[in-house]
Amino acid sequence: MYDLVYKHINKYLYGSKNSQKLRNTIQLTIVTILVYEGWQFYLFVSHFRDGTAYVSRPPAIEAFLPISALVGLKSWISTGLYDTVHPAGLAIFLAALLSASFFARGFCSWLCPIGALSEFLGGIGKKISGKKLLVPQLLDYPLRSIKYLILAFFIKAVLIDMSGTTAYAFINSPYNKVVDVKMLDFWIQPGTLTILVTCLLVIASLFIHNFWCRYLCPYGALLGVVGIFSPLKIVRESEKCTSCSKCSKVCPSYIKVESQSKVSSQECIKCFKCIENCPSNALHIWPSQEKLSPILFGIFLTVLFFSVLAIAKISGHWYSEVSYYEYSQLIPKAHLFTH
Ligand code: SF4
Ligand code: SF4
Repeated sequence: MYDLVYKHINKYLYGSKNSQKLRNTIQLTIVTILVYEGWQFYLFVSHFRDGTAYVSRPPAIEAFLPISALVGLKSWISTGLYDTVHPAGLAIFLAALLSASFFARGFCSWLCPIGALSEFLGGIGKKISGKKLLVPQLLDYPLRSIKYLILAFFIKAVLIDMSGTTAYAFINSPYNKVVDVKMLDFWIQPGTLTILVTCLLVIASLFIHNFWCRYLCPYGALLGVVGIFSPLKIVRESEKCTSCSKCSKVCPSYIKVESQSKVSSQECIKCFKCIENCPSNALHIWPSQEKLSPILFGIFLTVLFFSVLAIAKISGHWYSEVSYYEYSQLIPKAHLFTH
């Protein structure tokens, strides 16, 4: 019965050309929630600095602390003790990793706020220049390796070289307790170098699609590596394909979809622009017998991701255990703490 209902829903959605609308809606919703949470966090910090009204700390802000989450993971693996300082950050990190094992880099194009911002800037750039800039292959390959080198650095420094006791001590250090406050200060009081680098990244993102995700993001690199084991790949039915190249033209990852029988590149972010723009229905998600629709892919990915967060919340692994008193002592002195 369940199988029959699923097959009918999937069949109904398969021909739908609304996967991009759904994807953009999910992206916009997440960005809106995070902007709101960022504002709440600003008010929370202001309470301890300027005596303004108290606003509770939004745990989702820890989504922007991936290195702290990696150290939390190391500490958890080594000591068996789950991170109580930034528990939501670790839950979000684990949810992203779990999503990658099924949906590869789907997180990057459906759920990541930075991915959404990159895509938005790329869209503006395309309107300005009328086309997307192609980085010469000779330069593209070494540039793409940067994100893997950054990832390798953090994996070696945290998962390999750092001892469990050091990781545990870091998690409970005053620095880590206010690392989110320091991050807020980094953005609201930016130095000259921060402004310069941000401007360069924005300009690069305007003219090179997904510049940050493609070349620099270690998070995306990690999801790409985990995603190797994902069973879901895009396949092209050569007998239906008319070699019109529309799929390759819309691909934000510059993948030559039209010349591949199966897209197995780690750069594929599972946006499904290729599938939605194929006029011959020659592309589908493998290995689903029923040709899993991009819309159901997005729904399953989103449900899986937020289910992990819901489990973390229900099981008491969401709210930080740092007390009001500790924050009142640490936040006014946040600038003094270094790691
Ligand atoms: S191959 Fe298709 S799904 Fe993958 S990034 Fe390119 S357009 Fe998106
Ligand atoms: S858009 Fe479809 S028909 Fe055109 S080249 Fe790509 S797979 Fe073939």
